[in-house]
Amino acid sequence: MLSNLHMHTTLCDGKNTPEEVVLAAIEKGFSSIGFSGHAYTDFDLSYCLKDMTSYLHTMRDLQERYRSKIEIYVGVEEDAGCLLPNRSDFDYIIGSSHYARIDDSYHPIDSGADRLKQCIELCDGDPLKLADCYYCTFCEYILARKPDIIGHFDLITKYDELDTSQFLKLPAYQALAERYLKEALKSDCLFEVNTGAIARGYRTSPYPSAELLHVLKKNGGKLVLSSDCHAADKLDCFFAETRAMLRDIGFEYVYALSKGTFIKDYL
Ligand SMILES: [Zn+2]
Ligand SMILES: [Zn+2]
Repeated sequence: MLSNLHMHTTLCDGKNTPEEVVLAAIEKGFSSIGFSGHAYTDFDLSYCLKDMTSYLHTMRDLQERYRSKIEIYVGVEEDAGCLLPNRSDFDYIIGSSHYARIDDSYHPIDSGADRLKQCIELCDGDPLKLADCYYCTFCEYILARKPDIIGHFDLITKYDELDTSQFLKLPAYQALAERYLKEALKSDCLFEVNTGAIARGYRTSPYPSAELLHVLKKNGGKLVLSSDCHAADKLDCFFAETRAMLRDIGFEYVYALSKGTFIKDYL
């Protein structure tokens, strides 16, 4: 079944209006979609929803109006650094970390390769130290908050293919990422397989890396597939290829929302 619970619109940093996204999803034959606007982060206002009340109103209205054509869920993408006061207003939350906490302040790790380099400099020029800060920030949040879905777990590798920090090539990186992944697995949350960086030309494979997907498979990790959609024409970007890749790793199904609960969607 076609489903995507990670979508952004003009209400935060997406290109299309919510209604344009709904119409594109119906056209493509999606059974369910979920909006996940970036929740407010007090330390970075550049990309988040500015008016949560109007977001909720707009989305609930669309949910009602298109009820006979498609299931629409009203979610939110919360950042590990700034918790929502009103979790119960949403059908689900995606918990993501777009920052590493370094010396008690938050620094963006996905706002450009140059910003990432600055983060590494703040960690004495040591990429592993930055990776440790990032995963530590994220895992603390995951275990305390237990979001419904863990967003793009290894986002810190976003620019690896652009020959910058190259986390994936550092011999000690994999062990560090695996250690934190096993910590995060204790939360029993769903892990997102996210094709968003492919849609935007940063990567050729989804998050998490194939290595981490193998660890998830071995340890009973549960997955959802999403495209972290910022443009209506990317709703199912790289889905067919990713489903085939997951089958090759040994997964039989991912989870998708249907009638308000997560059900198995066989690959
Ligand atoms: Zn995100
Ligand atoms: Zn997102």
